[in-house]
Amino acid sequence: MLVFAVVIYLLSAKSREKEFYDGLVREGISKANLFFTAKVDPETMQSIYKNNIEYINEVEVAIYDKNFKLLYHDAKDIDVVKETPDLLAKILTGGDVKFYVDNYQAVGFLFVNDNTDYIVTAVAYDGYGYAKQLNLALSLLVICIVSIAMSFIIGYLLAKRALKPVADISDRMKDITANDLHLRLLRYNENDEFGELAASFNKALDIIESSFESQKMFVSNVSHELRTPLSVLIGEIDWVLLRDRTLEEYKQTLINSRQDTSRLIKLLNGLLDLAKASYDESKISKSNIRIDEVLLDARDVVMKGNKDYNVRLLFDDNIQDDSEITILGNEYLLKMAFANLMDNNCKFSDAKISTVHVLLQNEKIVIRFTDTGIGIPESELPYIFTPFYRGENKKMAQGNGIGLALVDKVISLHKGTITVQSEKDKGVTFEVIFNPLQQNNIT
Ligand code: ADP
Repeated sequence: MLVFAVVIYLLSAKSREKEFYDGLVREGISKANLFFTAKVDPETMQSIYKNNIEYINEVEVAIYDKNFKLLYHDAKDIDVVKETPDLLAKILTGGDVKFYVDNYQAVGFLFVNDNTDYIVTAVAYDGYGYAKQLNLALSLLVICIVSIAMSFIIGYLLAKRALKPVADISDRMKDITANDLHLRLLRYNENDEFGELAASFNKALDIIESSFESQKMFVSNVSHELRTPLSVLIGEIDWVLLRDRTLEEYKQTLINSRQDTSRLIKLLNGLLDLAKASYDESKISKSNIRIDEVLLDARDVVMKGNKDYNVRLLFDDNIQDDSEITILGNEYLLKMAFANLMDNNCKFSDAKISTVHVLLQNEKIVIRFTDTGIGIPESELPYIFTPFYRGENKKMAQGNGIGLALVDKVISLHKGTITVQSEKDKGVTFEVIFNPLQQNNIT
């Protein structure tokens, strides 16, 4: 606005100056004509000048001949332009001159009458033009101030209106605390950026809320799982301390306490492993490991843990090279996951046998853990990978419900998949698939 106003002001000043110079020339010519052609006598012309000057910015004209002799002057007593011989010579040889005397504008030019050159000078103060210019400057200043103020106010209101959703989002976010995680940002127009922001934020809240809930559930499950064996332990100790017992009773109590304690240790180890498997993938050390070796180690662990258990390992004939069954992985976690699957096979079948079949399908490593036990009812299949979930089979064997959750985590950490097929009373097959090619591309 300011640049615009300054440019307008300068252009108008320029045009005022030019117009006034032109006016001076016209006035000089017309007075010269009055003097030479109409032969109006100088006293009349001077008195007209004197009268006019009271009311208007009358032009003061002087006429010289070629010898710089003054022929006519409107008002010698005023004489704004002090015509020097230099100035007159300049007009005579060079033609028109335009110049300022203080605020007065003056022109000097040659006037030809009867083939004789005369020098005419005309000078006047452009009071009207300057007043107009001042007016313009004031108007421009007012327009500038008003329009800057208006753009500020309108801009402020528009910005406030445009940013209102941000303020709303921020207010709403203040209400969303750990206890009100179910609150969501109100939906805005999905097609604008704020709508997208609100939708993404809501999505993030969904994830946070569900992980927050599962954390809460996890903690309460853990406390419950820890409390039960500990209460049993205390109950037994209290019972034995109630009065003197026989040696046999003391022995039995210690055996029971030991069993409860080892159940607790198993649970704590499971929880520790679950925590390890829940780490960020990038924080878990990985190396090239052979699946067959890990399976053999897992079998040792399972069979040493329970003398009744039997794990059979079968490798397909089409596996010709070790590299075909090598993946990038964490040996400890994989061993623990395989051991869990073998353990479940044995635990939930009367035969106490786990058959592990390793084969290659389209360069993928497929491992099937099969038993011929009591199977899993179809209705329970969607839940078996949930931490602490124990199906109706829990009657058959002890456990804590974190085994399969752990297995699931470990397999997905290795970018593998796990599926389960089962028929009640016919047995279960867990199928784990690893894709070494995909794994290498990602890592
Ligand atoms: P846990 O074995 O400690 O109960 P898991 O997470 O290992 O916990 O298994 C969850 C549930 O899945 C078990 O309680 C059981 O109902 C079912 N399940 C798992 N593996 C088998 C299996 N091989 N045969 C029958 N049921 C199984």
